[in-house]
Amino acid sequence: MMTVDKKNLSGLMRRELPAKVYRLLKTVGAEGKKSGLPVYLVGGMVRDLLLKVEHDFDIDIVVEGNGVTFAKYLGERLSCKVVSHSRFGTATLFSQEFGRIDLATAREEYYSSPAALPQVSPSGIEYDLNRRDFSINSMAVRLDGKGFGCLYDHFGGQGDLKAGIIRSLYENSFVDDPTRIFRAIRFQGRFAFRLERATGRQIRNTISLIKQGLVPLARIGDELLRLLSEDDPRRALGRLHALGALELVDAALCSGPVSQRMFGRIIKLFASRTVSRCEPADRAAIFFMALARRMKTRQTEKLLASLRYRKTFVRAVLQGRGNELKVIKKLSAGREPRPSALVRLLDGLSLECLFYFMACTTDKQVVRRLTSYLLDLRDVKPACNGGDLNKLGLKPGPLYDRILSELRDGLLDGKLGGKKQEIEYVTERYL
Ligand code: ATP
Repeated sequence: MMTVDKKNLSGLMRRELPAKVYRLLKTVGAEGKKSGLPVYLVGGMVRDLLLKVEHDFDIDIVVEGNGVTFAKYLGERLSCKVVSHSRFGTATLFSQEFGRIDLATAREEYYSSPAALPQVSPSGIEYDLNRRDFSINSMAVRLDGKGFGCLYDHFGGQGDLKAGIIRSLYENSFVDDPTRIFRAIRFQGRFAFRLERATGRQIRNTISLIKQGLVPLARIGDELLRLLSEDDPRRALGRLHALGALELVDAALCSGPVSQRMFGRIIKLFASRTVSRCEPADRAAIFFMALARRMKTRQTEKLLASLRYRKTFVRAVLQGRGNELKVIKKLSAGREPRPSALVRLLDGLSLECLFYFMACTTDKQVVRRLTSYLLDLRDVKPACNGGDLNKLGLKPGPLYDRILSELRDGLLDGKLGGKKQEIEYVTERYL
């Protein structure tokens, strides 16, 4: 039988969780009791509750019984959309109020071969906790009936949280699922924890064992992306470099000292007024560009395809890496470019790309020119539009684009100012 910590976390939950989340967990428990099903809060939210840090991701619930049936029932009670995956015994509730709530049937997993997807079968909570990655993520809190708040801590997760340790649950954990290497390093970086000795050794052994391939790149890519999305991924990236773990993704990725300085500039840039005055950008894509800075475009393209990243991410990375040398060289030229020339050089490049260029360089002049484009120039538009050209008697067609871009250039370079002058310009040249 599994050890049930006598600790009851209901007081802590009431104090630490937002009131609406606490009420939701009470409701889930009450509905579980009505259905005669033990239900548990599991994973990251239990960990973060004990750490007293905010948890801004999904709520994970495990049900001893049919998780999909219970999810549908709960979805009706909470009036939210349910998407279920009966084959896996999992379902997700999409709630306007609470965001994503994941429900799963408690299950056991077996790995038939290293790095393969596991085979699963329904079971009790103890087995469900056994299949998890680290002791700190393998705790559950019971939600139904009188047991509300009761902590299930089979692997000493609480102690490891106090000691600041990442501990795997069994010897072959990383061989079975190499994505756990990235997870270990991500949590280590996030919480400034250390790897327990055996866990560190298991990671190193696994890396040397599987270096030659055999890793599920799409899943590793997912974890890499989550790592790059951490508030400050520098520590974790440095650690991945030291362990040689990035080579599991691609031997050409680098996060050595030069990249680390770039990461630092990215972090600093994102805390700056320039970034705060622009629309949101995907910071993970910029970190990725820095990681891939030594790769050739073809090589990067191939890697991104295997990692199956979303299209906008791929486009931004390829654009950044493909234009880096040309754009930075032009921006570092001594003579001050005309604003219209600056706009022509940079228009069409994504925000991620422009921020990447800023992080690539230590040349103040390049940064100043990019900043001027971002904050002052890129939104400049002439006072005239297509309607005005039409009124002047010009036939709609590609000519409109040419005229409007000439008007914009004139405005940017201070040669035109206001609608009257623009109309005079068009009349003089085109009518
Ligand atoms: P975060 O705060 O980054 O969201 P999390 O712990 O909630 O962290 P998730 O990826 O949402 O992370 O996973 C939820 C839980 O599922 C984990 O806490 C862990 O128990 C389990 N888990 C996730 N990925 C794995 C894995 N690769 N192997 C074993 N267990 C895993």
